[in-house]
Amino acid sequence: MNIKVIIENLYDKIKIIEDNGQLANYIPELTRVNSESFGIHISTVEGLNFGVGNCYEQFSIQSIVKVLSLIISYRILGEDLWKRVKVEPSGTAFNSLVQLEVENGIPRNPFINAGALVIADILLTHLDNPEKDFLDFVKNLSHSREISYSSHIAESEKKAGFRNAALCNLIKSFGNIENDPSDVLDFYFNLCSLEMSCEELSNLFLFLANDGFTLKENTQILTRSQTKRINALMQTCGFYDESGEFAFKVGLPGKSGVGGGIVAVHPKQYAIAVWSPKLNSKGNSYKGMKFLEEFTTETELSIF
Ligand code: GLU
Repeated sequence: MNIKVIIENLYDKIKIIEDNGQLANYIPELTRVNSESFGIHISTVEGLNFGVGNCYEQFSIQSIVKVLSLIISYRILGEDLWKRVKVEPSGTAFNSLVQLEVENGIPRNPFINAGALVIADILLTHLDNPEKDFLDFVKNLSHSREISYSSHIAESEKKAGFRNAALCNLIKSFGNIENDPSDVLDFYFNLCSLEMSCEELSNLFLFLANDGFTLKENTQILTRSQTKRINALMQTCGFYDESGEFAFKVGLPGKSGVGGGIVAVHPKQYAIAVWSPKLNSKGNSYKGMKFLEEFTTETELSIF
């Protein structure tokens, strides 16, 4: 099987299909992007690095960052982390408030906004320089010095961030946010504004396919058990209320963001990142989902 040829052929095929998706316009700055962009990059545990299309162009990774903030807080708190956030799929939209009230301010999982706000709060409490320490972690793992936050996007989201503010304040009222909600929100908006390319993302996520160890330096980032758990969470909760559909059609753990990026991990094999900014009605990249579905079909590799 020639993975490069499969990726190239699928790229050519999917690039020209009609894209029924829409740009995320609830964060106005996210619409300032070429909606036709399409990039793919794979990094394998065998050392293959291969990409096509706009795979070196940086874009707003948005919710993909929630996996990274979760990993850092898991390293800090260990299993105590799960007292602050649960590990069940929500079956509701990523920014929903309804469960939070009934479930006493303990978010369903770390990948809905409520959970990611709690994780941001944990990092604010435990990191000496939260913004810098977080960025250093990401730069080291992706082997790229060029990664940064976008102040335009963070500002744009802050101006429209009424729902996230509501979530954060509601969680605070239940005592599950330690810091000032406005500080948590500012940090959360910064995290979501991080810009990375498909190449940087697939390099970074490769350790999740490699039992928690970086490929180049063989540094342990998470234990094997923690790695399994992060992958399990991506499998069950990584695609908003379309996580079941992604498992059904693609069959890999992954995480998407409203900037149109998707990262998927095949344990013991590879990490792959896809970017195409127009989103389907559930907020996931229309062409990204299509590509990954056909990729696992053609390669006949999935975790199931
Ligand atoms: N910053 C976005 C928000 O909080 C992230 C959404 C996403 O990518 O799912 O609404």
